[in-house]
Amino acid sequence: MQNRLHYNEKYLRTALIVDDEVVNRELLGGILEEEYNLLYAENGDEAIDLINIHQTSISIILLDLIMPKVSGLEVLKFIQADENYKNIPVIVLTSQVSAEVDSLKSGAVDFIPKPYNMPEVILSRVNRMVELFEDRQIIRGAERDSLTGLFSINFFYEYCDIMENYHPERDMDAVVLNIDRFKMINEVYGRQYADEVLKTLADVVKKFANEREGIAGRGEDDTLYMYLNHQESYTELTEKINSTFAKSNQSSYLHVRIGVYPKSYEMTPLKDMFFRAMLACDTIKDKVHMSILTFDKNLRTKIVFRERLIRDINEAIEKKQFVPYYQPKYYIQKDKAVLAGAEALVRWKHPEFGMVSPASFISLFEANGLIQLVDHFIWEEAAAQIKEWKKKYGTSVPVSVNISRVDFYNPNLEEWILKLVDENGLQPDELHLEITESCYADNAQQLLSVVSRLRRTGFKIELDDFGSGYSSLNVLSSLPIDVLKIDMKFINTMHDNEKNLLIVKMIMDIARILGVPTIAEGVETQQQHDDLKKMGCDMIQGYYYSKPVPAEEFEEFFKFTPEK
Ligand code: C2E
Ligand code: CA
Ligand code: CA
Repeated sequence: MQNRLHYNEKYLRTALIVDDEVVNRELLGGILEEEYNLLYAENGDEAIDLINIHQTSISIILLDLIMPKVSGLEVLKFIQADENYKNIPVIVLTSQVSAEVDSLKSGAVDFIPKPYNMPEVILSRVNRMVELFEDRQIIRGAERDSLTGLFSINFFYEYCDIMENYHPERDMDAVVLNIDRFKMINEVYGRQYADEVLKTLADVVKKFANEREGIAGRGEDDTLYMYLNHQESYTELTEKINSTFAKSNQSSYLHVRIGVYPKSYEMTPLKDMFFRAMLACDTIKDKVHMSILTFDKNLRTKIVFRERLIRDINEAIEKKQFVPYYQPKYYIQKDKAVLAGAEALVRWKHPEFGMVSPASFISLFEANGLIQLVDHFIWEEAAAQIKEWKKKYGTSVPVSVNISRVDFYNPNLEEWILKLVDENGLQPDELHLEITESCYADNAQQLLSVVSRLRRTGFKIELDDFGSGYSSLNVLSSLPIDVLKIDMKFINTMHDNEKNLLIVKMIMDIARILGVPTIAEGVETQQQHDDLKKMGCDMIQGYYYSKPVPAEEFEEFFKFTPEK
């Protein structure tokens, strides 16, 4: 047989020969030795030991059924019971026709009758089996996700296509599932635990899909997919998920989101259906009281709106439709509040939609990288504004700009930022850079070195949304930061109860330990202001003083501090 096992002369596959009779071992060894590395076992125990040592580097096992003590059938059972070993093909060696049936039932793939009087036939049979199994492995490896056993995403789509080709009339649902804050589960509870959670979920999902003539697949990380018969309701699935997690005490902090796109909604290509299911799934992110969302008219409008924004972005930059608004920050520890600086916050003056808030487009543009265009533009505007105010008022008010995590993928980031100060004749410490806490967790090393270099150059780094990113204290102490901005949600809720107030105090303590000043964001009330002042908070930003306003309006703050 011309066989690709011969292609690579240097690489010989390994065959294990298990027979209690030395003559048989030698006979078989003689037939195979030119093409295989050989391992020999004289009984079942030895065979199991060798399998445990060499594991899947064994390409084939030739196994005598009748041996004293541990028999060949028992070795077969051992192999079949192990996830890793059961893909090693086993050929049974036997002189009893009756035993062949039993061995094939127990998972042997072929048998060779004794005595071995046709060496050529034996060799080609062994080779054929090895080849067959390797091909199957290659296909399997790509077809299934190794952790969950679900289809890997490309195969999943292929099978969906096949289903559609054969039964285009079937009423189906495209479903996407995701676990809220799975990254956090990974970080806090460890990889192994997170894997277990995912496997548990995958098992439930697979069963649910299979029972409804459907299939399940796994995409990136914790995203699972189903394509199955249309369901009027998915509450049975959510109940099943919850009860399964409850059994293993995993339920209290796990929130699984499900986005559904019914095929009948509108004719659209398969991948679009899943994109829409994904959008539904993303829409209920972090909304713990909602587990299922079915694609509907609202989401359709949202898609059209988003597509429009993406289409319009270049023109918007050209025509300067993006405008920075400025929100003042005040020092509050003196008798009278003193202007400390401003944060530049982007607004889009869209010719058709009017004023579009960043909430509608930041995450959209982060997902496709377009945020870099917007940020670069806003930074330029902000730097030019600092220069203009310096000239007009003779004093410098530092302005902070937001840096998205996506900006750090750009190797020119440092060069861009340095150019901004150069071209406008600014000192680096007049431009502050706001970087969110979660950003540091994402791509730590590369980001840290860029930020550290910028900081050494003299730029001030503000750690934005502090408290939302789960940084541990020892990581925090090594971060290159100059200011800590407390996440708005702590301020919003600080007077809800004693505990929340205490948390804000603790954050102030952390900042003191780190030796950096604090800014409280989203301060709206007198009571929040007064308590923060008492706690030693250095600066305040929020509606209490002013909303973000256009540059001309901001100039008022140079002249006087708003009455409070
Ligand atoms: P952020 O950086 O945390 O900005 C603070 C947000 O809180 C701003 O929302 C601001 O208008 C709002 N805010 C300020 N004071 C108060 C208050 O007292 N009460 C309440 N309820 N809200 C207050 P905005 O302008 O809608 O921006 C939202 C987010 O969009 C920002 O959160 C930031 O993450 C992002 N963003 C804004 N501009 C840019 C930009 O130019 N580039 C990038 N990459 N992201 C930006
Ligand atoms: Ca910010
Ligand atoms: Ca913030």
